[in-house]
Amino acid sequence: MKPRIAIDGPAGAGKSTVARAVAKELGLAYLDTGAMYRAVTVAGLRRGIDFEDEEVLAALAAEIDLAVEYSDDGQNIIFLNGENVTETIREPVVNRHVSLVARCPGVRAVMVEKQREIGRRGGVVMDGRDIGTNVMTEAEFKFYLTASLTERARRRRAELLAKGQTLTLEQMIEEIAARDKIDSEREVSPLRPADDAIIIDSTEMTIDEVVSLIVATVTRGNAGGNT
Ligand code: C5P
Repeated sequence: MKPRIAIDGPAGAGKSTVARAVAKELGLAYLDTGAMYRAVTVAGLRRGIDFEDEEVLAALAAEIDLAVEYSDDGQNIIFLNGENVTETIREPVVNRHVSLVARCPGVRAVMVEKQREIGRRGGVVMDGRDIGTNVMTEAEFKFYLTASLTERARRRRAELLAKGQTLTLEQMIEEIAARDKIDSEREVSPLRPADDAIIIDSTEMTIDEVVSLIVATVTRGNAGGNT
């Protein structure tokens, strides 16, 4: 079976870009698990639900039709009840609510089941917060990708500027820090490195360097330990 690769880490560490590039180089599928929680969030915002109500959130996650397709360049295209929401899930209002959705155990149960089903097929790079610790504990390779808060905020801001969204660095730092706090303090599958994850601090690294490091590690078949 082709390898399963888990890439976890805090917001803005470059996980999606890295995971997609690694998948492309190694000829593997790519699944952006954050996009799934984002799609549930979009559904919740449209219905005007109370994001503190865990029962409503869990029912919503179970009820929506969430589908992931893969574009030729390896991007995930996300469909919510048949509508392409790939752009919508990146909006700032989604960033502000997604961690409230993702901390709900009932929502996680539904998403994790879908993710495990994809993981069982093998040959996949999955990025998220709990892939190595929960979704694919048996993954052959686990990486935890991080960078300083300021650097992560800078990278996220540059991405958003390219799409015409202007936020100050301070706003980005605040938003990312708030999301990381909820993600790492929640009760179910909080953000943390798996015991057998290779930790990569990319503060001083380019995306290409991170991709090369991961591809080289996988190619060597060398899992475990820290860089
Ligand atoms: O990766 P991304 O920033 O798109 O993830 C959005 C949010 O989804 C995270 O801040 C986190 O709350 C949630 N998430 C999660 N578990 C995952 C992936 C994402 O809780 N495996």
